[in-house]
Amino acid sequence: MKLDVRMFRYLSKESFRVLAAVELGMRNHELVPLPLIESLSKLKRGGSRKLIKNPCLKHKLVTHSSKDYDGYKLTYLGYDFLALNAFVNRRTVVSVGRKIGVGKESDIYLVRGRMDIQEDKTKDKKKQREEYEQNELLNEENKEEDVVPLILKLHRLGRISFQKVKLKRDYLKNRNSSSWIYLSRLSALKEYSYMKLLYERGFPVPRPVDVNRHSIVMELVNGYPLNQVKNIQHPHIVFHKMKELMIEIFNIGLIHCDFNEFNVMIDDKEDITLIDFPQMVSIHHPNAEVLFDRDVKNLLDFFNRRFKFIPDDEDVKGFCYKDLIKNYSENNVDLSNEIRQTGFTEEMEKELMENIDLDEKYDENEIENENENENQIENENEIENENENENENENENENENENENENENENENEK
Ligand code: ADP
Ligand code: MG
Repeated sequence: MKLDVRMFRYLSKESFRVLAAVELGMRNHELVPLPLIESLSKLKRGGSRKLIKNPCLKHKLVTHSSKDYDGYKLTYLGYDFLALNAFVNRRTVVSVGRKIGVGKESDIYLVRGRMDIQEDKTKDKKKQREEYEQNELLNEENKEEDVVPLILKLHRLGRISFQKVKLKRDYLKNRNSSSWIYLSRLSALKEYSYMKLLYERGFPVPRPVDVNRHSIVMELVNGYPLNQVKNIQHPHIVFHKMKELMIEIFNIGLIHCDFNEFNVMIDDKEDITLIDFPQMVSIHHPNAEVLFDRDVKNLLDFFNRRFKFIPDDEDVKGFCYKDLIKNYSENNVDLSNEIRQTGFTEEMEKELMENIDLDEKYDENEIENENENENQIENENEIENENENENENENENENENENENENENENENEK
């Protein structure tokens, strides 16, 4: 899946209204019927009907199904474009460059944009209206001075397969296949909230710039993920920086849960930056001990394997959950207010974590460990996976028509 920016540029603001109407309709419809799209988009007669075919359907921004029930739903690309449009309107993104990473649960793009959001986020109505308006088309050669290179991360929960994201039965029943939209949105908002908290407390993490739907914009980190680095000059010092970082995060009550060579970037000076936060948990999580000690073990194994570095006993003394929790003083931090400032609620946190399989995440890293030399580039496999996934979604549709009708009724009652 590619973010075709030329195509983005060519989309009219009316096309975005149609996409936004499909998005809105998907809140309580598995497939959004055309009459509903027409009424939600508030376009002149026939406008939506035309635009849903071209460009939306033609360019795979939506899919159409008429098997048992006629309607449309957003694709990831359609959802990407809605988020991108919001960033463009806020001018946090002015141009999109190449894709630099394909994670298991994200796509990462190099973009250019502004660090400071141009708009008052508290004005909800205004914001919504502006998202529909495409004020400025993307311009690759934007030369304005405050424009800097940034990273756009598009979250993709449920892309590879829904089995990997443990979807609870009742959850699936309520949210249907649009749950990927919902979960990816929660994942992005969580990542943004935690990144902001860590950044504001002076931790070495990218500066968060903007969040919309399933996407975040953040500072570009100089350097490479540690897994791509064959040699470092001072393994001992780098190990200590990583250890201290884990401990400092622990001391504000948090565990990263995926603290490894894929999520630690290192620069020329061998300074480190931590990335990738959707799976973070509190030190009071029921599995906190296992999760923290696993990150520790992974770090030790990696330094041994890659740099032939084994720390002294003294170096790792007290570097485990049991000892750290003993010395942890509860009264020094309460993060909940800071985290919730972004609108990421406790309920959202709970819902997301019920659907992130922390063990699964670790297994995937182990598989990646074995293929360390392979570049993370888009390949045919990925496209195959995506197709599989589409089929899975199709099947889900078929199974859930009953459910769909229920939603229909609900909707009518509301009216
Ligand atoms: P995932 O959740 O899919 O693992 P990550 O946030 O770990 O996603 O990002 C995947 C890869 O993208 C990283 O390993 C890194 O190479 C690159 N990357 C992510 N964020 C940044 C950033 N802020 N600056 C530079 N590169 C980044
Ligand atoms: Mg990662």
